[in-house]
Amino acid sequence: MSAEETPLLPLIRAEIRETGPMSAARYMELCLAHPKHGYYVTRDPLGEAGDFTTAPEISQMFGEMIGVWTAWIAQRLRTFRLIELGPGRGTLMADALRAVRGAGLDPEVWFVETSPVLRKAQAERVPDAHWVASLREVPEGPFVLVANEFLDALPVHQYLRTAEGWRERLVGIWSGAQDRGGLDWGLSEPFPGQDQAAEGAWLEISPQADAVLTEIADRLKTSPGAALIVDYGYTASDRPGGLTMQAVQGHARIDPLEAPGASDLTWLIDFDVAAAALPGAQVTSQADFLASIGIGERAMSLAKAKPEQAEVVADALERLTAAQQMGTLFKVLGVVSEDLPTPPGFGG
Ligand code: SAH
Repeated sequence: MSAEETPLLPLIRAEIRETGPMSAARYMELCLAHPKHGYYVTRDPLGEAGDFTTAPEISQMFGEMIGVWTAWIAQRLRTFRLIELGPGRGTLMADALRAVRGAGLDPEVWFVETSPVLRKAQAERVPDAHWVASLREVPEGPFVLVANEFLDALPVHQYLRTAEGWRERLVGIWSGAQDRGGLDWGLSEPFPGQDQAAEGAWLEISPQADAVLTEIADRLKTSPGAALIVDYGYTASDRPGGLTMQAVQGHARIDPLEAPGASDLTWLIDFDVAAAALPGAQVTSQADFLASIGIGERAMSLAKAKPEQAEVVADALERLTAAQQMGTLFKVLGVVSEDLPTPPGFGG
């Protein structure tokens, strides 16, 4: 397999020559967020003509269901900020706001976004939003936070349990690795671990994702509010085992080392870990969440209003909720501050 000689590749090789093999997390950070050549810095990757399609880009119904959920919470908050992490094209928020405003609420919208290209796309759909680069910059106060496919874009470290201890998976320039732009995977020296992990077990840890979850947990302690986190991931019952990092280009899976900075890199969220970081959090499947908010009824009313669109609506409903599509692979985590009742979608 040959590598694409992307503008980022020589910079990665130079960094490895200078400071040694880099973690998967450092590689991912450079690929996605390098200030000049990072994947999200240089392009809008969403949609049929791009590299991948997300739930809000499939149908307005997705954002609308999140809007209905938000309105339910917000009616107990009066004024609040509506925060979104990694809003992509701003489609989810535009659809959610229709539902939120329809319920007589008018929150300030805060977007946490680093990509200049996507900020521009967001401004076309939600012109009066506020933009910041990290959640810490959003003022304290009552809030509803939503995030779809955001955590999986944050850098992740990968560790392998070996007979000698844990070893971190590294990207290096090893001899013989001439076929992937000189890059290949290797392992760090082992470091001892006192745990019971079986030999051959992999562990993926994202300090950046953990920091975001901790920041949300801290906010929920000081302000009334709620968070809804949707992502591709697993719990104990459908844990894949092994590594979950994957690269996508033009809607096809490729080798993560093949096109650095020109393909999307993601990993699967461990929702048990995420829930443990957020006291009181509950996790359900996207299919169950959307069904209990009322996506079936919404699909029916859309199809009734525009019979010529009935097939498109049915197709979108299928993609969002069918088990073989996004319905079970995608999970939804919901958490509210102590003063609020269990929200809809989680047995409330
Ligand atoms: N939520 C959107 C987009 C998902 S893609 C949707 O569902 O369509 C990931 C999003 O996170 C993009 O908007 C990307 O620019 C943003 N992003 C990635 N890393 C980020 C970071 N470290 N800080 C803020 N935003 C980031």
